[in-house]
Amino acid sequence: MFIEVNDIKKSYGEGGSYAQVLKGVSTRIEKGQICAILGPSGSGKSTLLNTIGGLDTIDSGSVKISGVEITQLNAKELSLYRRNYLGFIFQFYNLVPNLTVKENIQVCEYLTQTPLDMNELLETLGLTEHQKKFPSQLSGGQQQRCAIARALIKNPELLLCDEPTGALDYQASREILMLIEKINKRYGTTLIIVTHNTAIKEMVDRVIKIKDGRISDDYVNTVIKPASQLEW
Ligand code: ADP
Ligand code: MG
Repeated sequence: MFIEVNDIKKSYGEGGSYAQVLKGVSTRIEKGQICAILGPSGSGKSTLLNTIGGLDTIDSGSVKISGVEITQLNAKELSLYRRNYLGFIFQFYNLVPNLTVKENIQVCEYLTQTPLDMNELLETLGLTEHQKKFPSQLSGGQQQRCAIARALIKNPELLLCDEPTGALDYQASREILMLIEKINKRYGTTLIIVTHNTAIKEMVDRVIKIKDGRISDDYVNTVIKPASQLEW
């Protein structure tokens, strides 16, 4: 699995009537990598991520996942792609309030015939003791861990994370970043993390910076710092 983004352009508004948000973005992301997309607010990071996730249309260019052009798929094919390959994590956790932690995760367990082992996943994410609680009984960090478990249970090849630590304090953010590292190692998941936390650039394999709808910098890290050692 690898991702190729080729010269994508995108404007919002009817018929693309608003200003262009992505102004010709091209890149390639390799399997098993952790890639950070950094850039100021409004630069187009989420738009790029949503395009890779097939959540948004583009005006021109292409997005290919393992050679399959997802920008050409019909609605049914696109939903199969999302179901089979993708997990999404957002700044706000979007848990179902009247389901327990375990039940929230189970909602997605049935999407695949080959889910990860529930108990092992709960253990990996430090949720074993919280599995019978409701979201309102959890801290922000615990809720995000539940959202991550929900995205992971179907063992997606690609996990797209939009500001995963955006609503969390320092300590909880560090824990989530350490978890992201662990998930990548244990399950081989490819991760793309959109963030404006620039400290994250030190822990990832690859950094893509976006400025005003264009890639302004793109490099591979030769030295990778463990998330546990990040400071900001
Ligand atoms: P980032 O994630 O880097 O903060 P976004 O990709 O969310 O940036 O947004 C890039 C630009 O596109 C911003 O100017 C934003 O206001 C605009 N935008 C995002 N989503 C929409 C939308 N649904 N309709 C109109 N404009 C949008
Ligand atoms: Mg955003």
